[in-house]
Amino acid sequence: MDFKMGKGLYEIYGTEAREMTIRMMEAANVASGISSGASVALKPNLVVAKPPESGATTHAGVLEGVIQYLQSHEISTISIMEGSWVGDRTESGFSVCGYDQIGYNYGVPLYDLKKDRYRKVDSDVGTIHISERILNTDYLINLPVLKGHCQTVMTCALKNLKGCISDADKRRFHALGLHQPIAVLASIIKPALTIVDSICGDLNFEEGGTPVQTSRMLLGFDPVQIDSYACHLMGISRSEVPYIELAEQYGAGSIAWDEKDITRLNRPTANSEYRVDNRLVARLTNNVDARSACSACFGTLVHALYRLEKEQHISATNKISIGQEFKNIPVDGVGIGSCCSRALHCVPGCPPAAADIVKLLGDLNKT
Ligand code: SF4
Repeated sequence: MDFKMGKGLYEIYGTEAREMTIRMMEAANVASGISSGASVALKPNLVVAKPPESGATTHAGVLEGVIQYLQSHEISTISIMEGSWVGDRTESGFSVCGYDQIGYNYGVPLYDLKKDRYRKVDSDVGTIHISERILNTDYLINLPVLKGHCQTVMTCALKNLKGCISDADKRRFHALGLHQPIAVLASIIKPALTIVDSICGDLNFEEGGTPVQTSRMLLGFDPVQIDSYACHLMGISRSEVPYIELAEQYGAGSIAWDEKDITRLNRPTANSEYRVDNRLVARLTNNVDARSACSACFGTLVHALYRLEKEQHISATNKISIGQEFKNIPVDGVGIGSCCSRALHCVPGCPPAAADIVKLLGDLNKT
């Protein structure tokens, strides 16, 4: 399955998944790329049967927003398709995450891909058993969560496609080290559209437990480009996630992105202030003076501090200031975001990307 790709990346901040999704789809004029009478499938991330607040799964509001947008454009052949990881039941995920109710409310069927028929597809990593329903879909919308992963460092658009294969192949992909199989699969299943739920993805584990609120969503058409950009947002070097460049080599998309490709539909607001509610985040940020910091900014800093520790084995020793109360105030040490533009060392941006924070803190640590 191969679709003509749309262009560009869209970014939006907030916590209202449904409204944010509709706004991005309207801005990208998604309906213009869907043929009349096309069957559309929504592929969320239900790796485990846990609510989205855990940091593991896609918010139901994302699915609701997509369905409302499509139905308002008279696109009515819509379904929700997912297969959770081998140790969990997809139906439990449908229920826990509220997808059952969404399906009922909008007349959209839900399919557990674990129970689907599979088509055998020969590839560089052997025969892959891929869901017939997915392969027969005219327009596939990928709805991943941007989060950390214990084996591949991060997971977003490309890895979410693993839910479309048989459980036996999921196990086999792990035995093969995941990277090459994910890249190969992305060259076979090419979603037409990807909408990323980055409202509160997990810091380091795909099954959730340490959610970090970043109050952000993305929309794009090239899953390789999205994963490449997502690494930047999380402060992860792309070389730490080999499947992304491998996917480009297999023809799944392009790693290139540029600031001019990104349409930002809004900026974070003060009414989404971050609340530290777990021990790892509290430890990482014990040096941080936060005053009315937006969750998008603070969450990004959390990711940066975690990457600094994991990749460079250093903890930030400089005093770090962040938040809207630092506007126009001179501060010592490091300031995060445009609000701290008068800090001795400032990482600009509203919010800045974690990669830029990692770079500055890493450089200061060397001097
Ligand atoms: S720079 Fe200021 S306004 Fe912008 S995200 Fe950070 S705290 Fe919020």
